Amino acid sequence: MPYVITSLCTNDGACVEVCPVACIHTTPGAPQFYIDPEVCIDCEQCEIVCPVDAIFKDIDIPAEHQAAIEVNAAFFRKNKAAAGPVSFETAWQMIRAAHDYAQLMGMAVTAAVVDEAGGPIAVGRMDTAEPMTAELAFNKAYTAAAFHVATAELAPQARQARFRSLTMSHRGRIMPVGGAIPIIDGMTIVGAVGVAGGSRPEQDILCCRAALAVIEGHGH
Ligand code: SF4
Ligand code: SF4
Repeated sequence: MPYVITSLCTNDGACVEVCPVACIHTTPGAPQFYIDPEVCIDCEQCEIVCPVDAIFKDIDIPAEHQAAIEVNAAFFRKNKAAAGPVSFETAWQMIRAAHDYAQLMGMAVTAAVVDEAGGPIAVGRMDTAEPMTAELAFNKAYTAAAFHVATAELAPQARQARFRSLTMSHRGRIMPVGGAIPIIDGMTIVGAVGVAGGSRPEQDILCCRAALAVIEGHGH
């Protein structure tokens, strides 16, 4: 049951900041923001922060705003690119870019690229990186793909019971630690890159950014 933004929206973007799955978007010149019904997880955070009460759960939407359900869905049908998965060649280039940056900084890391479902596309461990970094990098990338956000944003929630049970249900793969970033094609998350091996999460994040520069440079 997704939430829906109506024409009452004043475009201030407050809801975008709180959405845990980054499913609220607009385009330049559009009259309002829109919620992707295929991604919304029904958490109601956007409804809580909206200063003008423009957001409703689809089953509770007032009759005069019923059309907004289709307006929101149509926005994403029109604007979502026919995004394909990250190719192996691109994933490999991303990993090499992360390694190159790590080497420059005197680090040894593993970088992993996964698809939108968290499945591995490529994992590369530098010769002197600790063996355990391979699993850590993959787990971080898996987590960023699953939650549609950089794992650094999840770190403050890591001690919550919700996260501990999620970690168990995902066989230990959920890792809310900085060092993984989603790969976004237009409005679509097509995967994630994760890095482990730096002495601080910030260093892993910089390696991720080096990897993402590959796709920002030539698309995929
Ligand atoms: S209900 Fe939650 S997941 Fe859905 S759009 Fe609002 S903030 Fe995002
Ligand atoms: S918080 Fe409300 S007014 Fe602001 S962008 Fe979101 S829906 Fe529009």
